[in-house]
Amino acid sequence: MNYAKKSVKDVDVAGKKVLLRCDFNVPTKDGVITSDKRIVAALPTIKYLLDNGAAVIACSHMGKPIATYDAYVKKQTEKGTAPEKITEEAWQKSLKKLSLKPVAARLSELLGIEVKMASDVVGESAKALAAELKPGELMLLENLRYEKGETKNNPDLAKALASMAELYVSDAFGTVHRAHASTAGVADYLPAVCGFLIEKEIGIMGKALADPERPFVAILGGAKVSDKLNVISNLLEKVDTLIIGGGMAYTFLAAKGYGVGTSLLDAEKLDYCKEMMAKAEEKGVKLLLPIDTVIAKSFPDPIDGPIEVETVPSDSIPDDMMGLDIGEKTRELFADAAKSAKTVVWNGPMGVFENPTLAKGTIAVAQALADSEAITIVGGGDSAAACEQLGFADKITHISTGGGASLEFLEGKELPGVAALLDK
Ligand code: AMP
Repeated sequence: MNYAKKSVKDVDVAGKKVLLRCDFNVPTKDGVITSDKRIVAALPTIKYLLDNGAAVIACSHMGKPIATYDAYVKKQTEKGTAPEKITEEAWQKSLKKLSLKPVAARLSELLGIEVKMASDVVGESAKALAAELKPGELMLLENLRYEKGETKNNPDLAKALASMAELYVSDAFGTVHRAHASTAGVADYLPAVCGFLIEKEIGIMGKALADPERPFVAILGGAKVSDKLNVISNLLEKVDTLIIGGGMAYTFLAAKGYGVGTSLLDAEKLDYCKEMMAKAEEKGVKLLLPIDTVIAKSFPDPIDGPIEVETVPSDSIPDDMMGLDIGEKTRELFADAAKSAKTVVWNGPMGVFENPTLAKGTIAVAQALADSEAITIVGGGDSAAACEQLGFADKITHISTGGGASLEFLEGKELPGVAALLDK
């Protein structure tokens, strides 16, 4: 896959109407935005376009609205909602909750300009506002997923979106692994380039995978092996060292013949793990697994509640105990590997980091990346959040904004929203 894609700087935007796909899928509570991080992250591309004389038609999805009443009825019925509560009014209310109006208001505050809010996606309101839009002006379409064709990559919707503009700019990395009308389909009808956010994502991650500075170390964690099958196999083709921690490590330990007690185990993936260990050996890749493990009688309940733990060697987990974090010796082992690397990618926590007693492994990895001179790339919501909460964000080369997208990137999969952009 070619990651050298044209960006807004490679095309003339002056006087053009630009359809800009953003990721404004921000968390809200009672209609109030609780973190505007994603809106702030979109500002450089928006400002560049406005300052260079484009008329910007921004668009985004927010949450998962159910686009038709029939589908709403079906979903609520399946959920067991009482029939008298399944009404057209309740459906409309659920849609309204996911309106992008609060985003328009916040954008307007941040930019100090008016943001014209359309009341629909490709209807009369959107079309009329887009037709009137002048260079240097900004409008926002309603939640793209109000249209049922969005997630189905419906060509009519893609065409309708494209008909309002002369250029398409994609800057929502979190959605590029999905072929939706606004992320991929629209590029069939308009010249398509990327904004600064995507340019950075594909620039750094593309280079790390295509031509990494070595030693190249990948650290994978998180709950299950089965979620990361392709990533593990693909990374073994590229890295010098693959480190596996978190819940997924126990299936590897079990595949080595160790007892793992009541720890998380993907029993169906034991053979796969054996294959991966053999592949690592064959490729000369160092595969590091936890050498010691923090164990407890059971999973913490509540997840952040007090818990009594002890640390044992990874081959000595008692039958009635559960591994919930990497032990101290493993933290050192993993940190040393990360520190001596030139490129490190990390995805997934090393333990049940939601619990302060079980967060030490994840913190140690975050710290090692922050201390490292290497190019460090963190993807995945949990690992990214850990780096941010610990105040390490500015010590990491790149924290990917797309959890799913960054994983698919590591897998080496073609990302439809990137493939659709013009090559340099
Ligand atoms: P993922 O969504 O696959 O990245 O997994 C993240 C989740 O894995 C977090 O909620 C962690 O609490 C969980 N996790 C990490 N290590 C363990 C473990 N040893 N046992 C159970 N869950 C774990």
